[in-house]
Amino acid sequence: MTQILVLNSGSSSIKYELIDMAGPQTRAAGLIERIGEPMSTLTHEAQGRQLRIERPMSDHREGLTAMAEAFEQTIPVRAGALTAVGHRVVHGGDRFAQPAVIDDAVLDAIRDCIPLAPLHNPANLLGIEVAMQAYPDVAHVAVFDTAFHQTMPESSFRYAIDRATADAHRIRRYGFHGTSHAYVSRAAAAFLGRPVAQTNTITLHLGNGASACAVRGGVSIDTSMGLTPLAGLVMGTRSGDIDPGALIHLLNMGLDLGDLDTLLNRRSGLKGMCGHNDLREVHAASARGDRSAASALDVYVHSIRHYLGAYLVELGTLDAIVFTAGVGENDPVVRARVCAGLESLGIEIEASSNEAARGPSDVADIATAASRVRVLVVPTNEELEIATQSLEAVG
Ligand code: ADP
Repeated sequence: MTQILVLNSGSSSIKYELIDMAGPQTRAAGLIERIGEPMSTLTHEAQGRQLRIERPMSDHREGLTAMAEAFEQTIPVRAGALTAVGHRVVHGGDRFAQPAVIDDAVLDAIRDCIPLAPLHNPANLLGIEVAMQAYPDVAHVAVFDTAFHQTMPESSFRYAIDRATADAHRIRRYGFHGTSHAYVSRAAAAFLGRPVAQTNTITLHLGNGASACAVRGGVSIDTSMGLTPLAGLVMGTRSGDIDPGALIHLLNMGLDLGDLDTLLNRRSGLKGMCGHNDLREVHAASARGDRSAASALDVYVHSIRHYLGAYLVELGTLDAIVFTAGVGENDPVVRARVCAGLESLGIEIEASSNEAARGPSDVADIATAASRVRVLVVPTNEELEIATQSLEAVG
C-alpha cells in the first residue's frame, strides 16, 4: 500500500490526512487545535470511527505524539508503511517551482522565505522539523502554495516600482492557493476530456481566503494574490485590492503598522463591510433588508467579475470557468451573479443545474448546452494534491 501522510502545520494547529494513493482514499484525517494553550484538542476520524483527545499539548511535538496515539487506537500505521510525508508550505519565494524533497538546503530556503510569510513559514518549518524527528526513516516533501504560479511571465509578476528596491526586498507577485488551482484546473481538463496542455481555464478559489487564476495549457499565467495573500479578490476578512495610497493616507492620519495589519487582515472584506464573513450569513442579513450586507455582496461579486474579465482577455480563448472552495462549491447565488449577462462572451449558466450543485462530490457542469465556455463546479482537494505531488517528488 502506498500511503502518504499530509501535514498542514499552523502556529497553533496541525491538520493531517493519511491518504492511500491506490484509491485514492482518505484512511484517516484529523485536526489538532489550540496547541500551546491550557487545553488542546485533537479530533480524528478513521474509516467511520471518531476519536477525540483533550489534554494540554504544549508544542507541535506533543501534538504529533497525540496524532500517533490516535492512529494507534484506530488504524495503526506500521513502521515502513509510509511512502512519504507531504508538508504544505505557504511561501517558497521564487526558489521553488516544484515540490522539494526536504534536506538541509531546502530547510534553509524555507527559512529564507520567512520575511515573505512571517506568520506561516515559521509554523510550517516547525511542523516539518518535528515530523522529521517523529518519522526519521521516511522522505519528507515540501509542497509550496506559491510553486504553481512560478510560471507567470514577468509582465504578470512584476510590480511597477523602482527595480532595485523591488529586487532587494523580493517585492513581486508570487500568488497562493497554488495546490488548489493546480488540482482543479487539471480536474476540469480531465472532466472535459481534453489534454491539460490544450485547456484554458479561469479558476476561482472562493473560500474564506479567495483567489483567481488564469491557467493556459495547465500553466498559471496570472493570479490575483500578490506578494502576500492580501491582494486580489474581496475575502472573508481580508480587503483584497486597495489603492496603496490609501494606506499611506491612513498612516498619515495616525494609524500605526499594527492597526493597518489588523484592519486589512481582520476587519476588512465581507466582515469589515457588513459584520459577517460567512456568505451564508451575508445572504441571510441581506434577505432581512440589511443594506450593508447587500452592498458587501455587490462589492464581492464585482471583484470576482473584475478578474474574470481581465483573465478572459489575457487568455484570449477560454474553455472553462471553474468554481471551487467553500463559496464556489456551495453558493449558487454567487455563481449566478458572477456569470450574469455574459452570454455574448459565450458564458451562460443553466439555472437548475447551478441550483443543484451544492457541495457536489464530483465535478458538476452548470453551463447551458449552448454555452461555448463550460462553467464547472469542482470540489478542491488540496490534501490529495499535496499527496500526489509528494509521491511524484519521491519517484
Ligand atoms: P478556507 O479558506 O478557510 O479553507 P473554505 O474553502 O472552507 O475556507 O470556505 C469557507 C467559506 O465558505 C465560509 O466562510 C462560507 O463563506 C462559505 N460557505 C461554506 N458553505 C457555504 C454554503 N452552503 N453556502 C454559501 N457559502 C458557504
